[in-house]
Order: sequence, then structure tokens, then C-alpha cells
Amino acid sequence: ATQTDVELISKHEVIPNYMPRDTFVHKGKLGHALIIGGSYGKIGAVTLCSKATLSAGSGLVTAFVPKCGYIPLQSSFPEAMVLTDKHEHLLTAISFDIKPNVIAFGVGAGTHDLTTYAFEDFLRTNSTPLVIDADGLNLLAEHKHLLKLLPKKIPTVLTPHPKELERLIGVWSDDFDKLNKVKAFSKKHHVIVVIKGAHTITVFDDKLYINTTGNPGLATAGSGDVLTGVITGLIAQGYHPVVAAIFGVYLHGASADIAVPDFGYESLIASHIIEYLGAAFLDLF
Ligand code: AMP
Ligand code: MG
Repeated sequence: ATQTDVELISKHEVIPNYMPRDTFVHKGKLGHALIIGGSYGKIGAVTLCSKATLSAGSGLVTAFVPKCGYIPLQSSFPEAMVLTDKHEHLLTAISFDIKPNVIAFGVGAGTHDLTTYAFEDFLRTNSTPLVIDADGLNLLAEHKHLLKLLPKKIPTVLTPHPKELERLIGVWSDDFDKLNKVKAFSKKHHVIVVIKGAHTITVFDDKLYINTTGNPGLATAGSGDVLTGVITGLIAQGYHPVVAAIFGVYLHGASADIAVPDFGYESLIASHIIEYLGAAFLDLF
């Protein structure tokens, strides 16, 4: 048996990782994140994710969406730049002339064959650090050979909810078995696995980081898309992906904790998590 390090992540553990902003910093130094996702009826996932990316501190964010996403994104989120696929409703060919330092793939993307091919083509030439969520995870699960195409140097962040995790690693018999399977998966594919749930656990190699923030108000549409954006925004500005995953999960939960007294568990929606991210940063000190 291999030894496992387990760490509970609360404020005390994340504070040392926090990188305060330099007085003379400018947006060009804070990274450029690219969010690739969306399909007809699911452009909102990309909007939420991109907003969360910028609200987590990324200097710039560009969204890459099917054509039908252009107007909704530009009108509901003027801070973002938008690039479009040539297809009206689906991602079919991912090409861009920008140089992002982190890319999030998958929110709202769907699993159409054309999107599968586009994802594979993209992975074949990509070496930019990645965060993969939602349908990006479903594509990896359905086409396991794609896992071999992930960037070699920097570990990719995967953020599965329980169903997505099951598709990736298969069914587990109990929590112990689940964690062992995830650890093996993390090592084999050089990925950071964020096992989302009431007590989100981030797994990398033999290490487990158990988050202590968050509440049932997070069980709401778009909540995961916001988490993907937060982690992506942290990587954009220079946090290592392992730190970004742990810190991102913490901030996402802390934001919801601060928002609950204003909205209650029932009325809290994903946009509120973004609105309260600033309060979660400020609450660190
Ligand atoms: P998704 O299912 O992709 O929208 O992601 C849901 C997000 O909300 C994840 O970050 C989960 O960890 C979080 N979440 C869902 N349910 C709960 C809960 N009961 N308590 C705390 N966090 C939750
Ligand atoms: Mg999700």
C-alpha cells in the first residue's frame, strides 16, 4: 500500500498561497484565459464560466463559442472578448490567433461527433495548461485515447461531479475504493482530479486535499461552471494548477457561505457565487 497525505483545507491553509496584487501590475501581467465551450441553448455555461474567470483575477478572458453564442455573450458580458466557431450551434473546429496561458474546455459543449473531432484535433496540437469540465470530461470518458493527448509538462485539472467521475473511472464499491481509483487515475494520466460534492476532495498523485467551505446552496445550475472559471482565472494569473484547484474550490465554497445569509440556500444561484467572490477574497484577511 502507498502512503497517502490528507490535508483539510481551511483559511489557514490557503492564506500562504495567496499572491497579493502588486501596486504597479497591469492586465497584461495577469494572464489571458480562453474558455472553449457552449452549444445551442447552453451558452450561459460559458458566460458564467468566463465571468468567474475574470472575477477570480484573470487579466483578460476570451470565450470561444459556436456562432449562436456571439450576441448573448457580447451583450451580457462586455468585459469578455468572443471568438466563434464556423458552425452556428456546435463546436466543430477550434482555431484561434491568440496566445492564452490557460484554456478551459467543456462547459455546455455537448458531445456531438463533430465536437469530439474538434476536441481531438485541438488536443493534438495544444500544450497550454488545461482545465477540463462537464462535456469535456464526458468526451474523455467516452474516448479514453484522448487522455494520452493531454499536456505533458503541467498537470491538467479535471473537475468531475459524481456522475462524470463514474464515467471516467468506472463504478466504485465504497469511498475508500473511489479514492484509490482516483489516485491511480491521477498518476496514470498526470491529472489533478477535483471530486466535486458536499466535501470536495482534490486529488493529485497520493495527496488528498479536503475542502471545508461550501454549503447546499451550491447544489444549483451553473455552480460547477463557476468553479471551472475560478480555477481557470487563478491559473491565468500565475497560480500552479494544484494550488489553483485547491484555492479555487475553497473560494467557490467561501463565496457561497458568505452569500447564504443574503439569499438562503434555496434562492442562491450561480451568478451570486460570482458576485460574492470578491467578499471571499477579502475574507481571507
Ligand atoms: P456541477 O454539478 O458541475 O454544477 O457542480 C456543482 C458544484 O456545487 C460543485 O462545486 C460541488 O462541489 C458543489 N456542490 C453541490 N452540492 C453541494 C452540497 N450539497 N454542498 C456543498 N457543495 C455542493
Ligand atoms: Mg457541471
